[in-house]
Amino acid sequence: MYSKRLITQKIRGMLIVVPFLVLICAFAVHAADQIIDSHFHNANYAMQGVPMKEIIDRYMGDKIARSVAFPLPLEQKWDRFEHYAGDKMPPNYYLGPKAGMYYYSFVDVMTARDYLTLSAADKARLDPMMVGFNPMDQYGVNHIKRMLILFPGVFSGIGEFSVHKELVGDKIDDDLIKTDLGPGETLPPDATDSDRNTLYNPSLKTILDFAGEAGLMVCLHSDVYHAGVSYDGKVVSMSPEAPYTAGYKHLCTESPKAAVYLAHTGLGRFVKPAPNHLQVLSEILDACPNWNVDLSWDLVQVYMVDPEPGMPSLDDWANFVKNYQDRVLWGSDTVIFTKNKLDDKGNVVLGKPMPVEDYLAVKDILEPLWKKVGPEVAHKVHYANHVRLFDAARTKVRAWEAAHAYDNVWDLPVAMK
Ligand SMILES: [Zn+2]
Repeated sequence: MYSKRLITQKIRGMLIVVPFLVLICAFAVHAADQIIDSHFHNANYAMQGVPMKEIIDRYMGDKIARSVAFPLPLEQKWDRFEHYAGDKMPPNYYLGPKAGMYYYSFVDVMTARDYLTLSAADKARLDPMMVGFNPMDQYGVNHIKRMLILFPGVFSGIGEFSVHKELVGDKIDDDLIKTDLGPGETLPPDATDSDRNTLYNPSLKTILDFAGEAGLMVCLHSDVYHAGVSYDGKVVSMSPEAPYTAGYKHLCTESPKAAVYLAHTGLGRFVKPAPNHLQVLSEILDACPNWNVDLSWDLVQVYMVDPEPGMPSLDDWANFVKNYQDRVLWGSDTVIFTKNKLDDKGNVVLGKPMPVEDYLAVKDILEPLWKKVGPEVAHKVHYANHVRLFDAARTKVRAWEAAHAYDNVWDLPVAMK
């Protein structure tokens, strides 16, 4: 039996401890609620988008603390000779039209000009990223340097840009790799006769080396295995048994200083998780200490919480996220301006800024995953990892810009390696 005095002491103790616990819980809930979108497109394949001020005020509001802002780098050519959709509407997405795509560098100026109109408080909530360079071009790095010199105080990183991406690789106006092979030279290990992009292009090493030097974060889209897809979205071939693991390792070993995050863990609309997807990812992350992954894109997130037979289970994903909890980011992969389409009756429905509730709905898809990994890990993925990586990037990039403020953009040094 407890004495009366002991019971009184216990009650007193609880009176002190309970409010303290409530405070800690409230803090934990608040911390868990803070969300950063590390993968967000403020414009589409026709450079249609939403001004940054509106993104902050209407879309992010008090729900999304901070976000990257990267347009799509590629413009879908509108070829009137093709008579796309019976000439009823222009294309503004890459699936559907036969016409090619090209790097639209000017979009980086649009991003910079828009960002520079923001207040200091609003600027702190966005991490603009540069996209308008061809990653397969040895001159690509000079576009990045020129933008930093001409628009200091804007960019935190580069990307999302694509190396391997179904169909997109076929549609860029670029030479086939085999066209340029000299006598005795063979195709890079990840390339076929019809490829334009490779993880082994020295231009990528130049770009990533510069990203490492300047401190730019890198968002890399590269499908984890090859998917052949026709212009209208029909699957022609799939190679889940042959992931590009060696290519990723080659890239990060060549440029170890670049802080990279692999977009949607190398998955996409057609590239679905193979049974060994998480082992492949682990192998890449173990070999590449400066690399991270993002869990973005609503349809990829559905593979995680509601996997099809043969895909890694939700428990597998939770274990992966716990194992690499300091190297995983969250993102919506929203393209803020919607696609033009024909409705059931064949009427044209032109694209427009996405409804705010549609954007905010994406943040709830991975709820079952957060429950499995717990609030502490969820907070790292949602918030803390982005802050650590991107705050470091901001500081380093500002220092590079200050040191190179008077470099001559008309005559930049040529990178030979
Ligand atoms: Zn994306």
